[in-house]
Amino acid sequence: MENKFSFYLQQENSLFKGKTLAICYKADQKEIEEYGLTSENILLFIKNKAIDNFIPKKSINYFSEIKKMFHKKDIFLRLQCECLLGMYGDTHCDCESQRFNAIKTISENEGIFIHLPQEAQGWGLHYKLQELELQVSGRNTNGEYIGIKNRDDAQRILIGNKNFNDCRKYGIVIKLLSKLGLAKEHFILIS
Ligand SMILES: [Zn+2]
Repeated sequence: MENKFSFYLQQENSLFKGKTLAICYKADQKEIEEYGLTSENILLFIKNKAIDNFIPKKSINYFSEIKKMFHKKDIFLRLQCECLLGMYGDTHCDCESQRFNAIKTISENEGIFIHLPQEAQGWGLHYKLQELELQVSGRNTNGEYIGIKNRDDAQRILIGNKNFNDCRKYGIVIKLLSKLGLAKEHFILIS
């Protein structure tokens, strides 16, 4: 179980400010399908004063440290669904301002930021570009203009579903937090 997690103690993170613990969880094929993931890597950032005392060149058990540092605390938690277009400047959605606000809250307090690879509600990046092209410019995957479409109509054209179907399942978050020994803690969700 533990080798599905990788840890990297960042000495300086310019977004989360100062020492930050980066964690990557590698989902298996079953989890990818079950939770609507569009890649196998889930990225977490952990901010906590205890991390300031972690020093390089010394052994550490991150699992027990994480459990200890958040014990009986209200933990700020941000679940950030991947939006690569937003991260690269697309202003179609407002997820970037939400992302920066959440990072600010966690950097100024303590907490956990989880980047969920559930691009386009779990349909993936290819789908997302095709859907947005239909919504914004009314062009289909052949580049033909077929009229501006709303999201439901775009999905009907691209996938054939009647109503937009969100594939994301958040059970993976509960699973991750319990694997980190935090299942019983109290979380404040940053929405
Ligand atoms: Zn977005």
